[in-house]
Amino acid sequence: MSLIRSWVDTANDPTCPFPLNNLPCGVFSTAALSIRCGVAIGAFVLDVAGMEKAGLLAPGDGPLLNTPAWNPLMAAGPDVWDRLRRQLMGHLAEGSGTRDQVEPYLHPLDGVTLHMPFAVTEYTDFYAGRNHAFNVGTMFRGPENALPPNWLHIPIGYNGRASSVVVSGTDVRRPWGQLKGPQDDAPRWAPSARFDLELEMGAIVGQPSTGPVSVAEADAMIFGYVLLNDWSARDIQAWEYVPLGPFQAKATATTISPWIVTKAALEPFRTQTPAREKPLLPYLQEPGPMLYDIALDVELAPGGGDASVISRTNYKEMYYSAAQQLAHHTTSGCPMRVGDLLGSGTISGPVKDSRGSLLELSWGGQEPLSLPGGQTRSFLEDGDRLTLTGHCQGDGYTIGFGPCSGTILPALSDPFAR
Ligand code: CA
Repeated sequence: MSLIRSWVDTANDPTCPFPLNNLPCGVFSTAALSIRCGVAIGAFVLDVAGMEKAGLLAPGDGPLLNTPAWNPLMAAGPDVWDRLRRQLMGHLAEGSGTRDQVEPYLHPLDGVTLHMPFAVTEYTDFYAGRNHAFNVGTMFRGPENALPPNWLHIPIGYNGRASSVVVSGTDVRRPWGQLKGPQDDAPRWAPSARFDLELEMGAIVGQPSTGPVSVAEADAMIFGYVLLNDWSARDIQAWEYVPLGPFQAKATATTISPWIVTKAALEPFRTQTPAREKPLLPYLQEPGPMLYDIALDVELAPGGGDASVISRTNYKEMYYSAAQQLAHHTTSGCPMRVGDLLGSGTISGPVKDSRGSLLELSWGGQEPLSLPGGQTRSFLEDGDRLTLTGHCQGDGYTIGFGPCSGTILPALSDPFAR
């Protein structure tokens, strides 16, 4: 697959994250335009809601795009997803006869406000990165018991909170919580001192299910992917997680990138999951490549300082694909809904500077990270700006996700002090 050229010149730059090959789905507003669906192309957002109203786009039987979320389009199904992509390709390709009609619907990206691209109906977070699970398990339980006995058989997950998923650019307030003291079992009530990031991908379920689905059916249900930062308070987590898993440690906020990169755009970058260390039960076996080759970076900018890359890894490191996770999620009969969000689990590579959390990068705070400006970090400090980026490298083009950013605000004064 090579670059598909567009009459939008900026889309043809090989480093542009939004070439015609991509066409990611976001939600935007301007001073003049109400909140609505848009598609990124080059340095612009295309007002697809306006185009649909004008009769230039008709992916479904009725209007689907003049809404503040992509859920109605997703619910309309894969044939409609494909039709929208074909219609957009026709309008935006080099030499298109409709350029004069379409051009008024382009708005410079730097002049729009981006919002949550879809309504998150439910959020489940998994733990599918082998290196991450091994690193965290080693710190919490020692290297002999690092991987729980079920880990190589089940994509482990927990039911998270949809209510605290926010779009990139939203500030994140340091939480208070119950923290275990270093010596005794009596907990303290204090702001989290070990606030962390988790580099993940989010898969967005675009079709519902009412019973168990196969891995192939699960793959067909996924509409697209976003970058995801599962903010984590490690000191709250360490005290609360036995025996039912994370709770308040993960409930403060989860940040996603503003553009849903569709499965269609990612198709050329499909790759196999790594070799199985133990055979999976048949229902979890992959019928084809269902992971993606997506290069991922984590950047940290201290308050007022320059950003530097603190980790560099790839989504293809995951042991389980989103399709396997989704199939496993339905085995109980659990219905999945349009707008369900699945976090991949932290994506850590095999070497130190490819680890996807500060917990691993600083090895629980024992080996603080040095930043180029001279600062050190074991965990996030107030004013830190954390940004995830991701891209697929095609032949002469790039598929980008847009940044997934958040700045840490200081904890408020004790919310229970009267
Ligand atoms: Ca996580």
